[in-house]
Amino acid sequence: MTFEDLGLAPELMRAVVDQGYETPTPIQRMAIPLALEGKDVLGRAQTGTGKTAAFMLPILHRLRGGEGTRALILCPTRELAIQVAEAAREYSAHTELLVHVVYGGTPVHKDVRNLKAGYDVLVATPGRLIDHLERGNADLSALEVLVLDEADRMLDMGFRPQIDAILRHVPKKRQTLFFSATLPNSVKSLAYDILHEPESVEAAPQTTTAEGVVQFVYPVERARKTDLLLQLLERPGMDSVLVFSRTKFGADRILQQLQRAGISAAVMHGDRDMKQRVRALEDFREGKIRVLVATDVAQRGIDVEGISHVVNYDVPQDPEGYVHRVGRTARAGETGEAISLMSPGEIGDVRAIEMHMGTNLPRVEVPDFSFNDVDEETVSIREEPAAKRRGRRTIGSRSGAELSPEELKRILDVGGA
Ligand code: AMP
Repeated sequence: MTFEDLGLAPELMRAVVDQGYETPTPIQRMAIPLALEGKDVLGRAQTGTGKTAAFMLPILHRLRGGEGTRALILCPTRELAIQVAEAAREYSAHTELLVHVVYGGTPVHKDVRNLKAGYDVLVATPGRLIDHLERGNADLSALEVLVLDEADRMLDMGFRPQIDAILRHVPKKRQTLFFSATLPNSVKSLAYDILHEPESVEAAPQTTTAEGVVQFVYPVERARKTDLLLQLLERPGMDSVLVFSRTKFGADRILQQLQRAGISAAVMHGDRDMKQRVRALEDFREGKIRVLVATDVAQRGIDVEGISHVVNYDVPQDPEGYVHRVGRTARAGETGEAISLMSPGEIGDVRAIEMHMGTNLPRVEVPDFSFNDVDEETVSIREEPAAKRRGRRTIGSRSGAELSPEELKRILDVGGA
């Protein structure tokens, strides 16, 4: 199927060509025809599958020629809201349609001017939108299409009351498009409440990662992870690297160590204010920094083309989290590499991921860093010895490694991102 087959308006087809999209992604092939028919859609798709265009193109097609705020896209985070609005502006570049975005952390009065100016598509985070609805700054009475993007994330972040409140301002007769990477019961119940006879579409089963990603596990003592990361960053092709840390504290510490080694890097986590987060993402997107260190909460909205490597400095504890993180590279048909640094204490987490995906991830043993975690079924690659030996080699007992006070503090700092 080609984009021509979808029957989108010529001005939208021009935008698709501008974007360089050649063929629709699977979620676009499935969702666009249904959305164009006016159906409600329940889409199981994660970021990186092309889901934004899957809902935005049919919305823009539908809205051509009318007036008033007729589409609302609710997003869990500011980062995602900014990216969705950016995509909407690009896709609507050859139309008269106007897109606005509102999110928390910015002065309310600035939004008001924009809201009063009139717009066709509003992208919003739930908290800020409720603020505006309660103050009478926004009017959703003419709404035709409501989109919930990353619904699972919104519920994780506790937005159900805000979503319910927003629904009271929205006409009952409307089209609703609902996207979520996972479908736990809380999400199904929300979907049941707000969708009308929906058609289900699924981008890819949750257990799979994009085809173009090659994935490796590097066994390494916990205390030597940073040294290994620095060595990996010396390799050619490590141009745009997203590093995941489980904690804010850990993320800050990795940042410091990278900067000390002269590597351009920035950090993104919940303690950074909006301006700092947007700036970090922009710098990463524009290639001004090579490495972006992020926590899981911050990573959801990261949509940057050309991420060459995802490095799991800490192995994620839930397998779906792994699939999400790895989904940041090799987006929409590109190629990329995902590297997980596995300490002896994380062997079980890696095994859980392997079980979830139904495949074994090859181990790469770097001399001086690796400990022995190779069973018969696991492919193991032994790398050439490093030119320089760095520090003392610690061969791991699998569980009894002694923790430094700093490490202990890091482990205890698991409260949030
Ligand atoms: P999303 O899942 O919406 O976050 O999209 C992920 C990335 O895929 C974005 O950078 C889009 O610009 C890109 N993309 C969306 N649709 C296509 C397509 N049909 N072909 C190539 N890239 C696409």
